[in-house]
Amino acid sequence: MSEQFSRRDFLKLAGVGAATTAILTGCGPASRYVKREPYLQMPEYNYNGQSTYYATTCRECAAGCGLVVRTSQGRAIKTEGNANNPLNLGKTCARGQATLQGLYNPDRVTDPVKRASRGSASTEVVEWDAAIQVVADALKNNKPEEIAFLMGTAPDHLFDLVSDLAKATGINAPVRFGALGMFDARATLSKAAENLFGQASLPFFDVGGAQVVFSFGANFLETWLSPVSYTRGFAGLREAKTKLRGKFVQFESRMSQTGAKSDEWVPLRPGTEALVALAIGKLASEIRNVSAPAFEGVDPLDVASKSGIKLETLEHLAEMFAGSNGALAIPGGPALGQSNGLAVAEAVLALNAISDNFGKPGGVYLSALAPNQSEYQRPASAQEMQEFIQKMADGKIKVLFVHGVNPLFELPASLGFGEASKSVSQIISFATFPDETALEADYVFPDHHGLESWGYQRVATGSAQSVLSGSQPVVSPFYNTRATADVLIAAAQLAGDKFAAALSLC
Ligand code: SF4
Repeated sequence: MSEQFSRRDFLKLAGVGAATTAILTGCGPASRYVKREPYLQMPEYNYNGQSTYYATTCRECAAGCGLVVRTSQGRAIKTEGNANNPLNLGKTCARGQATLQGLYNPDRVTDPVKRASRGSASTEVVEWDAAIQVVADALKNNKPEEIAFLMGTAPDHLFDLVSDLAKATGINAPVRFGALGMFDARATLSKAAENLFGQASLPFFDVGGAQVVFSFGANFLETWLSPVSYTRGFAGLREAKTKLRGKFVQFESRMSQTGAKSDEWVPLRPGTEALVALAIGKLASEIRNVSAPAFEGVDPLDVASKSGIKLETLEHLAEMFAGSNGALAIPGGPALGQSNGLAVAEAVLALNAISDNFGKPGGVYLSALAPNQSEYQRPASAQEMQEFIQKMADGKIKVLFVHGVNPLFELPASLGFGEASKSVSQIISFATFPDETALEADYVFPDHHGLESWGYQRVATGSAQSVLSGSQPVVSPFYNTRATADVLIAAAQLAGDKFAAALSLC
């Protein structure tokens, strides 16, 4: 080529680029973004031009997928799924990919702060020693029954720590809540498993190993219990290389993304899901000639008229379910959110007895028993949250610690969390971001971002295996934040007596 691009040309172009960048960052929202200078002294294990990879756990939802994060010169650059984690086998969902957005978000809480008054944007930065003293005083100067922890749904190291603290000192057991968990109907599903199997676990449904899957409302291709695990499972169901391409039937009143991917979408009247499951169970057990007391006394014709599903359709579906050696039935989502949700969950789980698939590939698994089993598996239901809020309103809770959940935003306003919080003398938030609840807290003592943290997470559901996924920092903390576990341990030592004994490090 005759026209060579000279170094001088390049420098001229670079100058234009710099000017453009300056204009963009000066005028738009990009100006709010943090300017990151190159390290003068490189963090340990980082070398110019070389990537370093760290395995950790995604903290964007409670599923607990494994991540491998590529870092370069001390900065996290890209997340990918950890291929060795049986939950997600090398994949992530969009939120897992976006976890870097949280890490670099300019709106993070950068220092421990004391708020001038609740709801006020005016805050005063406090030293961490003073912050720990505030937590220690809150523990020491109140009766144990007046101290409460409200936490997110992730069954992690912090939940273990607070549970141990509660058991040893008599403070209230941590209450776990998340709006997503409520939409997943985790509490109802877990209760149904307890009633049927005697174990309050969140079941895992091995969609990938099944041949025929009937889902009653479970929207598992959008977000449900363990989104990546179920998306991978669905890919396995459709995989035709090693077995016949599996069939999928979705029962629901409103077509979901999952329903849109089904072979047969069966619309029914809301609230009749349990009846439909029982009718299919009755017809299928007759075809298979198995005795199934759960389905006795069910009249499929009556169910057809109540549900809006023709009797011939019910018979066809029963034949499909009974005719497969790998049939699986899943209850979930809106179907369990109705007043008869528990009956729906039990009726659909009972369908699996016809295909005798409990604990078998393509069937239903209960996660292995863990310490604090019931607390792990069953976040608070809406009713339990209502009782908790009532305790707050009655002035029975004097100190409220909030971590990993934003109740002012996530709970329906009609439950009155905001009003009840006025009766709580002191609210201490450990939020990473200034969310609605943190804005109404007296103090915000920010935890590290998940990619800056040590810890572990027990996987409540999403795999036939029992999984404990470790977390490690992939970057040094960017701000003056501190791990909430460390804050609580230090505060317990300061509070002394039973608190120090409960979280003794020796
Ligand atoms: S499903 Fe997995 S990758 Fe997606 S947000 Fe949850 S833990 Fe992260």
